[in-house]
Amino acid sequence: MSDAKVLLEVNNLIKHYPVRRGLFGRVSGQVHAVDGVTFSVAPGETLGLVGESGCGKSTTGKAVLKLVEPTGGSINWRGTRIDGLSAAEMRPFRRELQAVFQDPYSSLNPRKSIAAIIALPLRVHGIAGEREKVSEMMELVGLPARLADSYPGQLSGGQRQRVAIARALIMRPEIVICDEPTSALDVSVQSQILNLLQRLRRELGLTYIFISHNLAVVEHIATRVAVMYLGRIVEEAETATLFAAPRHPYTRALLASVLTPDPALGIPDTGLGIAFPNPLDPPPGCRFHPRCGEALPRCSTQAPRRRAVERSTVECHLYEESAP
Ligand code: SF4
Repeated sequence: MSDAKVLLEVNNLIKHYPVRRGLFGRVSGQVHAVDGVTFSVAPGETLGLVGESGCGKSTTGKAVLKLVEPTGGSINWRGTRIDGLSAAEMRPFRRELQAVFQDPYSSLNPRKSIAAIIALPLRVHGIAGEREKVSEMMELVGLPARLADSYPGQLSGGQRQRVAIARALIMRPEIVICDEPTSALDVSVQSQILNLLQRLRRELGLTYIFISHNLAVVEHIATRVAVMYLGRIVEEAETATLFAAPRHPYTRALLASVLTPDPALGIPDTGLGIAFPNPLDPPPGCRFHPRCGEALPRCSTQAPRRRAVERSTVECHLYEESAP
């Protein structure tokens, strides 16, 4: 990485999962969860990663966090390549890369008090001043001090997510990967947590990667958006640009679906039917071609390349100079 303004740079990230027949059977295929994802994140911005369930956005976040080992590509943090580092080599970077996940209940140890949960990263890294740091962080995320000795089961969903945020922030990280942090919460609580995350970003100078299937949420919080489809980023632009002038047919379908969501499902109806292609056997050419209403003859055989189109980057044959 040569650009000092870039905090995180992900190049051609690939993550394939082998599929085996039976418990110890031979490998019968590969799930192409992430298949050539490239993006960078600058300090202070919020990159929204959006797409349908199974598009690879969570796997991308897990690879950056080193929770899964990439099959290929590279991940650079402040100019240092971190993919392939051992757990010990990764230790100094762990403090700077933190995460908040969807389900605060399952990510919090039910037998530990709230104060102990928030303090855990300090203990792991041998950092002193636990009491003061925990109470300061509880106040910062809006948790009353009286909850310090409570347990996760005694808290509301919103309070539990505040605990998860406090635990992520107590090491004062540079970047926080928020993976669907509000999807498990009541609608009324979602906006409180989103506003909290935004305030914390401003006050602590944080950078976020915000992973979500919910475009309305992403529009609210992200400064830049990358739309993923079947393991690839198909369009990327600043948030205002993407929402004002979506270019990729998939982005346009996703945006149209925001107008007719099924609130009970919380999953956008893309208007593209349920035929999400099998990631075990992605379609040739453009992966979106079986669902695309604007497909050209070459779309079923030639994969489009990512190209700049005004202030966006788009992976679609419609934007080649010779198209259609
Ligand atoms: Fe549709 Fe072709 Fe563009 Fe893919 S490359 S989104 S199939 S027009």
